[in-house]
Amino acid sequence: MQALTTRAKQVDRKPMTLAEKIYLPAIFKGMAITFSHIFKKKATISYPEQKRPFSPVFRGLHVLNRDAEGRENCTACGLCAVACPAEAITMEAAERQPGEEHLYREEKYAAKYEINMLRCIFCGLCEEACPKDAIYLSETFAPSNYNRASFIYGKEELVIPHPKENPDAYKKALGNRAKKN
Ligand code: SF4
Ligand code: SF4
Repeated sequence: MQALTTRAKQVDRKPMTLAEKIYLPAIFKGMAITFSHIFKKKATISYPEQKRPFSPVFRGLHVLNRDAEGRENCTACGLCAVACPAEAITMEAAERQPGEEHLYREEKYAAKYEINMLRCIFCGLCEEACPKDAIYLSETFAPSNYNRASFIYGKEELVIPHPKENPDAYKKALGNRAKKN
């Protein structure tokens, strides 16, 4: 009969030896392998108490940036949405009203800004396209959830905490960017 593969192995039909019949040598061999691993460096960590450092090029969850005064940088120009290959970004622009200068840096701002995290492939093109340093990908990721709607992140989830009102959360959201600045 023609063999289907060159890697086929003939089954050994020899009768078992006494050592094979009593299983003890095989058990000791297995235990020796197990004990040898006790002294080796562990490949696993106790997540979430311990966390692995991210790679410097890791691209995670998006953050909508503010300037040092706490004003939103985004001008709703739409360049990030155009650059996005997954069509994950949608927004609605609005005009800044008198008295809102402390909220938005430019005359136009994103009244609504949404990213569908189920579509996003974390390519970072939105960050590269942005002329206002208004969006960047951070070193965290979208937590798991039970329904699809929860993966559409709006401004409440995306805008960075206020640097003056909540400086600790602001610094945490900056992550590696805080060290670079
Ligand atoms: S990271 Fe890529 S896929 Fe995700 S929103 Fe930005 S451009 Fe779109
Ligand atoms: S995040 Fe940047 S590219 Fe996107 S709309 Fe705002 S300013 Fe424009």
